[in-house]
Amino acid sequence: MIHFFFRSSCHLCDHRASSASSVARHVRTVHLRERPHECPQPDCSFSAAAHQDLRVHVESVHLKKRDVVCPHCGYCAAQVKLVNAHIRRRHGGVGLVGKRAEEERKRKRAEEEEAGAGGGKMATGKAESHR
Ligand SMILES: [Zn+2]
Ligand SMILES: [Zn+2]
Ligand SMILES: [Zn+2]
Repeated sequence: MIHFFFRSSCHLCDHRASSASSVARHVRTVHLRERPHECPQPDCSFSAAAHQDLRVHVESVHLKKRDVVCPHCGYCAAQVKLVNAHIRRRHGGVGLVGKRAEEERKRKRAEEEEAGAGGGKMATGKAESHR
């Protein structure tokens, strides 16, 4: 039996894809390394397709800038989204970090204080606490 699921394959490696255009993109990014943003560090061969990616690389790899910290266990990373991914994986998504999460927490706290100003009643969990 011969499988014809993959119509195109890369002539430089084993990569196969269902369309010629995605193979072309693969060749551009993987083999031709169309990544104009090169790391300025002399002994680093990293290059990125987007300037933002290069900045993240420099900050996390060379500057060792890891100032985003998990509030639960002290795990730290260079990016808010990495820490949030960690929190989702390890802590069920509770206590996400970052500005937006911070604002949401503040707003929630204010709402809770307003709502539960009288006593030891548990705040009724809103359905939107998921995702
Ligand atoms: Zn290839
Ligand atoms: Zn580098
Ligand atoms: Zn953690």
